[in-house]
Amino acid sequence: TDAHLKAMEDARVLNAYVLETPEQARAMAQAADAKIAKGEGGPLGGIPLGIKDLFATRDVRTTACSKILGNFVPPYESTVTAQLWRDGAVMLGKLNNDEFAMGSANETSCFGPVINPWRREGSDVNLVPGGSSGGSASAVAAGLCLGATATDTGGSIRQPAAFTGIVGLKPTYGRCSRWGTVAFASSLDQAGPVARTVRDTAILTRSMAGYDPKDSTSVDRAVPDYEAAIGKSVKGMKIGIPKEYRIDGMPAEIEKLWQDGAKQLEAAGAELVEVSLPHTKYALPAYYIVAPAEASSNLARYDGVRYGLRVPGRNLVDMYENTRAEGFGAEVRRRVMIGTYVLSAGYYDAYYLRAQKVRTLIKQDFEDCFAEGIHAILTPATPSAAFGIGEKGGADPIEMYLNDIFTVTVNMAGLPGIAVPAGKDAQGLPLGLQLIGRPFDEETLFSLGEVIE
Ligand code: GLN
Repeated sequence: TDAHLKAMEDARVLNAYVLETPEQARAMAQAADAKIAKGEGGPLGGIPLGIKDLFATRDVRTTACSKILGNFVPPYESTVTAQLWRDGAVMLGKLNNDEFAMGSANETSCFGPVINPWRREGSDVNLVPGGSSGGSASAVAAGLCLGATATDTGGSIRQPAAFTGIVGLKPTYGRCSRWGTVAFASSLDQAGPVARTVRDTAILTRSMAGYDPKDSTSVDRAVPDYEAAIGKSVKGMKIGIPKEYRIDGMPAEIEKLWQDGAKQLEAAGAELVEVSLPHTKYALPAYYIVAPAEASSNLARYDGVRYGLRVPGRNLVDMYENTRAEGFGAEVRRRVMIGTYVLSAGYYDAYYLRAQKVRTLIKQDFEDCFAEGIHAILTPATPSAAFGIGEKGGADPIEMYLNDIFTVTVNMAGLPGIAVPAGKDAQGLPLGLQLIGRPFDEETLFSLGEVIE
């Protein structure tokens, strides 16, 4: 814990932490030591972690990196973090993220952008760590914690993991409780860990997962010992290679990375099978209807009355408007407007309802694959390596949304997905591969992921 607190101090330039909690960290570490001495350390005894600022932490400021939450200090703890503390982990502080987890570059946070510790060879240009869990990814990659919590609505665990050369797991929808996690799009949101190795990711997942009656979509299923999946033979497993993921303009190095990863799995005894996920091309447009629709509903609660910021006005409506205009950043306002539009009476059938139908088709594509005996699907995690801060999405938000092309399908279908570091591009930047699994079969992803990492 002390070594990590020192490293955090020395790396503040990365802007990975929005709040350091050294006193709590030392107290928790001492308590953990005492328990370890009695042989009761727990599976995470004394392990220092960073917590994405989307998880409510009792008596510790939680903002979702939005001005509108201001200095909100929750009087309760999220289920996921409570389970980590139950198992002996130590909190080092709260990690930066895109405002309300909306973004793919960690550039929309009210605390400013996060810097990726990686740089292109021979260049001093600062790169994004990906988003929205950019603080989590950057902190893990730079050694500012041993692991971190993150959330993934459309790729926010897997894309930053790929951009920073670490491992990130989005568990099956319902695996981890959403209780006490600031909501973005409730039918897509899922918490998960980022860490430096597949094994560490498996260990953290076990503590974070589990049934919680406080989340109505949490699933009552036993949590396996995920670590036992590491090193398990993958012989005879069928790995689907979806032809629709070979998108136009895919860089040759991503194509090669994908082929090399497939060959590694084949060398370990797995069988490669070309599969088809025909509705893939509709996933991104459908996601950018469903996610903003749910966001516009979830964000209605930030009205200047119940939480954080309040900007006075002449009357109540004026106060709402002033608070929301000043409290939400540009990307969040865009999402609220899109969401409100697609849910409005005249457009609901044309947009929201249609997107929901497309979502069902996307899910069906995966189910068809798994019904044919496919154990997991291998794809690139991202269409490129990390890009420069300010380089993408300025004038055209869709340029930024295209980053999520390989990851959003997984959320739409509620499946588990893992990103593992698999190589480097010509400029020395990390690139990741993604494995998509059957529902509640995170174990297979850990077994396969460990072969590739
Ligand atoms: N980049 C996607 C978005 O902006 C996904 C974000 C996330 O997974 N939280 O919506």
